[in-house]
Amino acid sequence: MPFADVIGQDRALGALQAALRRGSLHHAYLLAGPEGVGKGTTARLLAQAANCEAEDGDACGACPSCRKIARGVHPDVLVVEPERDMAKAGRWEPKGGRTPSRDIVVDQVRELVDRRLSLRRFEGRRRVVILDPADAMNHAAQNAILKTLEEPPPDTTLILVSSSADALLATVRSRCLRIPFAPLPEGMVVERLVQAGRTPDEARRAAELAGGSLGKALARAEEETRELWSGVEEAAALPADDARAWIEFAKGWGASREEAGELCELLLVWLRDVLARAVAGPAVPLALADLAPATDAAARLGPAAALHRAESVKRALRALRQNASPPLALERMLIGWFHG
Ligand SMILES: [Zn+2]
Repeated sequence: MPFADVIGQDRALGALQAALRRGSLHHAYLLAGPEGVGKGTTARLLAQAANCEAEDGDACGACPSCRKIARGVHPDVLVVEPERDMAKAGRWEPKGGRTPSRDIVVDQVRELVDRRLSLRRFEGRRRVVILDPADAMNHAAQNAILKTLEEPPPDTTLILVSSSADALLATVRSRCLRIPFAPLPEGMVVERLVQAGRTPDEARRAAELAGGSLGKALARAEEETRELWSGVEEAAALPADDARAWIEFAKGWGASREEAGELCELLLVWLRDVLARAVAGPAVPLALADLAPATDAAARLGPAAALHRAESVKRALRALRQNASPPLALERMLIGWFHG
């Protein structure tokens, strides 16, 4: 992946790429800005570009060096994360069987950073140490890394990644060249989410709530999608003889007109799956494969039931567009399902 794949950070990338091309990378960078806007990705790209065999100021992503860095096995590139994360990934073991901390601790600075930097370079042109997130370093760890920040060994770059850079000690901050990352324009986040397979509605809502963070927007869209899917599962499991359960469901999902509409759209997709299975049996591939058990159960009611349910859903969608009360529209939809 080249630098061009990081969106909306032209100024930050411009500064770093100019330094790369001049062969004059600074010895310590602080990539600072909101969460989820490409700081971590940029840090890793910088490590790749500095060691890429193409030597053109970018990361080709395909040469052995780029690939080793992407897999985290390049001997000259070290990524330091909170102790607990590294322990979970099997990349670090706290001394004396201590429970791993949520911080980056002083042991990690001594055992990983200092030790790595005391060895000679192995195969890269530049050693790179990435601390992500740098503000996870507790004070002892920050003090321990000061000396390295002040007098790093030659051909070495430290990259501190932080979404709360002001929480770092002033002594640490002042020894780094700060590269500010901006929040992303909403339109850009929406575009990326749609590229990642979200509907424009989902994408817009997620982007609005994420305040210019693509990472947050992706997580939110993911969460919404999961919620919608669980809505379909819930609807599929509603008992035919429990009107109270339908009313509860309609009240819950009818709390937002937008969500009620999206649920109905997804129900239509699901009912197409149900119809296909009812008509053609288990060999038919499903649009919503994760919902297969619910789909097969509903398919046993036969194709007529699936068509009938789809009609109810379409009526509900029309009612929602004509400003009907969302809980009422959903309730009528379910009455149609069970007593049409
Ligand atoms: Zn490369």
